[in-house]
Amino acid sequence: MNFQPSQLYDIAQTVSRNAYAPYSGFKVGAALLTEDGRVYSGVNIENSSYGATICAERTAFVKAISEGEKQFTAIAVYAEGEEAIPCGICRQFMYEFAPEIMVITGTSRDELNVRTLTELLPVGFSLKGGKK
Ligand code: ZN
Repeated sequence: MNFQPSQLYDIAQTVSRNAYAPYSGFKVGAALLTEDGRVYSGVNIENSSYGATICAERTAFVKAISEGEKQFTAIAVYAEGEEAIPCGICRQFMYEFAPEIMVITGTSRDELNVRTLTELLPVGFSLKGGKK
């Protein structure tokens, strides 16, 4: 990995300022690292129709995939004051593309937890025959 976990976490922290979270006040940033060293950021974007809300992790993935990226190595997730663990929807969403991705979380850049997605989602759902 070209990036240290703390560097990716820093990017997630910086971008979290752009989160749109007027309802929860819970601003989250994510930084997604591709295999070739590009970083795509994402934030949570809430909506008056709560079900239309999207998390920071999925925003980053949607941006990257829509730009043609397919290989991912790590994602850092930041929220102020607490460890932002990816929700179940995001775990499954990421599993589709990167079951072995490293997930970097923590309460500060000096106290990071690095886990594989399969640690967070040991048995992800996958259709057989999916084309990647
Ligand atoms: Zn989520």
